Amino acid sequence: MEIKYYPPVFLQNSFHCPHCNVYSHMKWGDTCLDSYYNKYLCSIAFCNHCKKHSIWLKETKEMLYPKKINTPLPNEDLKENIKQIYNEAAIILNDSPRAACALMRLALQELMKELGEKGKDLASDILNLKNKGLDEQIIKACEIVRIVGNNAVHPGIIDINDNPEIAYCLFEMINLIAEKLITQKIKTEKLFNKIQNLKNKK
Ligand SMILES: [Zn+2]
Repeated sequence: MEIKYYPPVFLQNSFHCPHCNVYSHMKWGDTCLDSYYNKYLCSIAFCNHCKKHSIWLKETKEMLYPKKINTPLPNEDLKENIKQIYNEAAIILNDSPRAACALMRLALQELMKELGEKGKDLASDILNLKNKGLDEQIIKACEIVRIVGNNAVHPGIIDINDNPEIAYCLFEMINLIAEKLITQKIKTEKLFNKIQNLKNKK
């Protein structure tokens, strides 16, 4: 079953909780009373699943807590297990960019299996794809996710926790790789089938 990811939205009844990432019902209330004007400045949403709360500024409809870097949604055509890893990484991105990078590396590893590789040794999988003549830009994107992910596991030159932007880029990279290798293939196949069907009709 395909489960869509519903990002947190102000005053929405249900969404994927920014704490537990479960799609759950939210109970809304008001908080932060401005006693001078006698009005509430913030709204608060309680997650029915983990019982934790998020705090929102009414004026801008922005989530103030938990603080979250908004990552793009995962590519629709990614398999559910990869989307789960992706969303898990998105949740912890603020608290630990390093851990997020390690998870994104794992997501790439899973993606390799989809592409017919073993998914165990990322370096050799990427090399295999390269030898099969895969687009050079995509090979480069895979290499970046691999190297940054390795760096997250065995800290080297880059301190990822000091550069959350690096982690953020990996989310875009994974989507880019999925778009090129999965989505475009699906689109091409659909078109091909359409033409095939039209030919059969005649
Ligand atoms: Zn929750």
